[in-house]
Amino acid sequence: MLRALYPGSFDPPTNGHLNIIQRCSQIFDAIDVVIAMNPHKNYTFSAEERYEMMQELLSEYANVSVHLWDRLVVDFADKVSARVMIRGVRALGDFEYEFELSMLNRGLNTKVETFFIPTDPQYFVLRSTAIKELARLGGDISTMVPPSVADRLRNTMRTAKDTPTPASKA
Ligand code: ADP
Repeated sequence: MLRALYPGSFDPPTNGHLNIIQRCSQIFDAIDVVIAMNPHKNYTFSAEERYEMMQELLSEYANVSVHLWDRLVVDFADKVSARVMIRGVRALGDFEYEFELSMLNRGLNTKVETFFIPTDPQYFVLRSTAIKELARLGGDISTMVPPSVADRLRNTMRTAKDTPTPASKA
């Protein structure tokens, strides 16, 4: 059985992530989506929210499961005996970063191979950070994230806008 991990922040999940999962679910027997919990990173959505969104979006896939993890991804691979780590690549800049990351991971665990998969052209520009900024400014994100994620994003951005900053309270 060929088992693969797909690690990421997924803050929030986008149509680009989902496209990678959909395509890989036809290649691998099982996929574990591993949501990173890094206490040193500032996420827009909590680990539980990101987990909830992914669970809901992936419920139709019998061979995909979702996990939260706060340690090295290669350690998760060992835990579940996964041999492959999936990484999506958009532009060349992504590749440079992903290539270095794969070298680092290889140094930690040679049993896990990195599998690079190019984005579908229609998702080339999708990046969680840019989508959040677009949502904050009231832009149309309906083609970039599923409707349930778009709703959550709008609510989160609205709440952030309505919360007075110390300067605006004065
Ligand atoms: P971000 O989406 O902010 O780049 P993530 O950590 O959530 O960051 O991404 C997890 C993985 O998914 C990474 O390998 C990343 O390159 C890949 N990925 C993200 N967006 C896309 C996309 N639109 N198309 C293909 N792969 C993507």
